[in-house]
Amino acid sequence: MADEMKAAASAKPGGDTIFGKIIRKEIPSETVYEDDQCIVINDINPTAPVHVLVIPKKPITQLAEAADDDEQLLGHLLIVAKKVAKKLELGGGFRVVINAGPDGCQSVYHLHLHVIGGRQLSWPPG
Ligand code: AMP
Repeated sequence: MADEMKAAASAKPGGDTIFGKIIRKEIPSETVYEDDQCIVINDINPTAPVHVLVIPKKPITQLAEAADDDEQLLGHLLIVAKKVAKKLELGGGFRVVINAGPDGCQSVYHLHLHVIGGRQLSWPPG
């Protein structure tokens, strides 16, 4: 089993996560962008030349737990993803991914968007 799948299989939904500690600056990260609603960091285990995570400061555990009231925030995360992709010169294209729940291979239970690019990506994902 791949490392990402092992991490997802052992992940426990709920509670504080590594991303909460990063948002509170309790542990370091390579921050690419930050505003009052979200932070964007380099993924510690990149799957492509560019692999960043757009993380809302609000600790929504996973997309399935987002509320109707989160509509503005979720839209903001996509707009930030687009702006960061431009800043990181992904003019040739990129992919935005949200892994959700055990079957979605989520390993950190604090909602986040992966923005991946800098090489030709294939489809479908595994
Ligand atoms: P997911 O499987 O969708 O929950 O993705 C979690 C992502 O977080 C993985 O791509 C990990 O490599 C990444 N990750 C875990 N810990 C850190 C960390 N301390 N800094 C940056 N990225 C991390």
